[in-house]
Amino acid sequence: MERYDQHVHTRFSFDGKMDVDEACEEAVRQGLDGLTFTEHFSMDELDPSYHFLRYDAYRAAVEHARETYDGRLAIGFGLEISEPHIEKCRAALAEARQTMTLDFVIGSVHNIGSVKLRRFMESKTKDEAYAAYFREVLQMVQSTDIDVIGHLDLAKRYFFPRFGDYAFAEYRGIITEILQTAIARGIGIEINTSGYRNAVGVPYPSPDVLTLYRDLGGRRITIGSDAHSADVLAKDFDRACDMLRAAGFRTYNRYIAREPHPVAL
Ligand SMILES: [Zn+2]
Ligand SMILES: [Zn+2]
Repeated sequence: MERYDQHVHTRFSFDGKMDVDEACEEAVRQGLDGLTFTEHFSMDELDPSYHFLRYDAYRAAVEHARETYDGRLAIGFGLEISEPHIEKCRAALAEARQTMTLDFVIGSVHNIGSVKLRRFMESKTKDEAYAAYFREVLQMVQSTDIDVIGHLDLAKRYFFPRFGDYAFAEYRGIITEILQTAIARGIGIEINTSGYRNAVGVPYPSPDVLTLYRDLGGRRITIGSDAHSADVLAKDFDRACDMLRAAGFRTYNRYIAREPHPVAL
């Protein structure tokens, strides 16, 4: 089976702890077929990613890696954009993206009202916090040009220690709306394996959400480790594949020039 880790950060992200070359070396060592870099990007001046990414240097580093690893590794050039839907960033984001030629765009909710999820929950009840998170994801899916929803249900990473997990049955309605909107707009979801490494112990999103996505007719899935350092690159990739197979999926996708290409599971 071909393995493509499609959520990887390097030092081009504010919280990255490896270089492009280090990630590629590790991918080769593990026998991966490819990886896609998805550096953080935000046009919100309150987000730590704001003006952090040196786009041209990032592009050059990936092109250099493509030459170095030619024939050994398929290397994708992508972004993980924080809250691409928020009004104050729309125009600047649209302008910035005009000059970008990307393979893959992850849309992620890391903040609500420009406040980090971890901080946001401090003044909220469990239901207020989770409901606000899913509403924010829905707004993103309704209005933006992204390839997949990043780590859908990530909020529990931060909310879990204080509130515990959300009751899937209580949020089934809004999650259904998120997934139906995504399917209708040609947006996929990623299985983000970092959840296995956190207290939650299951990927983002959870198997319940994955099953619902399948039942709604969703078939567009990517797999990403969200590695910020080489030691967790492609971590739990095979476990995610097992989960996908158990849920009845036959393929996942890798993105090239913003187009999904099925990979057999
Ligand atoms: Zn993220
Ligand atoms: Zn990420």
